[in-house]
Amino acid sequence: MLGYLLARAGVDVVVLEKHADFFRDFRGDTIHSSTLEVMDELGLLEDLLRIPHSEVAQLSGRIGNETLQIADFSHVPGRCKFIALMPQWDLLNFLAEQGRRYAGFHLEMQAQALDLVHAGDRVCGVQAQTPSGPLTVNAELVVAADGRHSTLREVAKLPIRDIGAPIDVLWMRLSRHPDDPGQTFGNITSGGILVAIDRREYYQCAFVIRKGEFADIQAGGLENFRTTVARVAPSLADRVQEIRSWDDIKLLTVMIDRLQTWYLPGFLCIGDAAHAMSPVGGVGINLAIQDAVAAANVLAIPLRRGAITTRLLWAVQHRREFATRMTQWLQVQVQKRILGRVLSTSTPIRVPAWLRFLFSLPMVRRIPARIVGVGFRAEHVRTPDAGAIAYQSAPSPTSI
Ligand SMILES: Cc1cc2nc3c(=O)[nH]c(=O)nc-3n(C[C@H](O)[C@H](O)[C@H](O)COP(=O)(O)OP(=O)(O)OC[C@H]3O[C@@H](n4cnc5c(N)ncnc54)[C@H](O)[C@@H]3O)c2cc1C
Repeated sequence: MLGYLLARAGVDVVVLEKHADFFRDFRGDTIHSSTLEVMDELGLLEDLLRIPHSEVAQLSGRIGNETLQIADFSHVPGRCKFIALMPQWDLLNFLAEQGRRYAGFHLEMQAQALDLVHAGDRVCGVQAQTPSGPLTVNAELVVAADGRHSTLREVAKLPIRDIGAPIDVLWMRLSRHPDDPGQTFGNITSGGILVAIDRREYYQCAFVIRKGEFADIQAGGLENFRTTVARVAPSLADRVQEIRSWDDIKLLTVMIDRLQTWYLPGFLCIGDAAHAMSPVGGVGINLAIQDAVAAANVLAIPLRRGAITTRLLWAVQHRREFATRMTQWLQVQVQKRILGRVLSTSTPIRVPAWLRFLFSLPMVRRIPARIVGVGFRAEHVRTPDAGAIAYQSAPSPTSI
C-alpha cells in the first residue's frame, strides 16, 4: 500500500517481496470500513468491490446457549457500512496491479531483504537475495513492512517491547452449506471459543486455545479434538470429520509486541514489523494499511525533494502510536478478562442480564463496530496523484 501511494505521488519505489506470489496460507481476509474509505478516496473502491467478496454488516456471537448481536456497522462513518471479506492475495494482487500504472512502481518478487546498507550512521539501502543473485537497492529511505517476524527490524536492532498473549489460535477450514447463515459468527462456551469466518464456499475457523496447549491437544488425539470443536460450535458438528489429520490445522502463535522507536536515520518500520497485533478484533491488516497511509502523507513530498529527516520519521510514529497502543491495550483486556477466563472455566457460561440489556441497545452495538471497523485514528489520503500534478524538476530519490 505504501509502495502504491508513494509511486502514485511521483516517488520512485522498489517493493521487495520474498515469495514468488501472494497466494499463501490464510493470513486474514478482513477489509475494514476505514480501509474501504481509503480505497474510495483513491478512486479504487468500485474496482476493488468487483472482486468476489462477502460483506459483514453485523457481528453476532453464541454465548453459552444464547445468541447476542455484538456489533452493528450500519452507523460507522464513511461510505461502506460493512467489513468486506476478501482473500488477502486478491487485495495484494489488486494493489500491485494498481501500482503498475505508475512509472515509479517497481515490484520485485522473489527478492528477500537480508540486511541494511549503511553510510556512516544512516541507512542508505538494502541488500536482498534474488534467484539471479544478490541485489543491492540504494535508497533515500528503507521501509520495513516485512511482517511480525521482520528481518529488517532485527538487523536494525530496534528495542522491542514484548507484551505477550495468553492464547494461541488453531486455524482450519470447514465446509459451508448453502442453507447455513451467511454470516461470520463466534461461539463462546465453557472451555472453548471458535470464530467461523464466512468464506462463501467454506468457513475459515479460528479455534482459540491457551498458549502452548497445542501439544497437549495433539496428545489427546484427533477424535477428542473433533468432539471439542463440535461441542463448542454445535452448528458445525456435522462436518468435523473434514478435519482429517493435524496437517489440516495451522497453529498461529499469537504475539503482541511493539517497537519502542520505529525508526533510525534513513529507516522506518510500519505494520506488523512495528507492532505485531493479536487476532482479537481482526484489526492487523487495517492498522498496517493505516500506517502506510499515514507514512505516505508525511513522507511523499519530502521524498520527492530528497529531504527525509529523522524528525519526519518520528512524526510517522507519533501519528500512529496512539492507535496502536490503544488497540493493543484493548486486545490485552479482551484476552485477559474474557478469553483467558472462558478457556479456563468448566462451569456453564451464561450471558449476565446487564450484558444482554446493554447489547439490546442499538447505540451500544455501534461502539464495537466503530472500534473494529474504523479503529482509534482513521487516516485519509493526503498525497497527490502524480498523474494530476506537474512534476518538480528535483530528482526523485529511490525508496522502498
Ligand atoms: C493466521 C493469521 C490470521 C490473521 N487474521 C487476521 C484477520 O482476520 N484480520 C486482520 O486484520 N489481520 C489478521 N491477521 C494479521 C494480519 O495478517 C497482519 O496484521 C497484517 O497482514 C500485517 O500486514 P504487514 O503488511 O505489516 O505484514 P504482512 O502481511 O505479514 O506482510 C509482510 C510481507 O513481507 C514479506 N516478507 C517477509 N520478510 C521479507 C523479507 N525479508 N524480504 C522480502 N519480503 C519479506 C512477506 O512475504 C509478506 O508478504 C492474521 C494473521 C495471521 C498469521
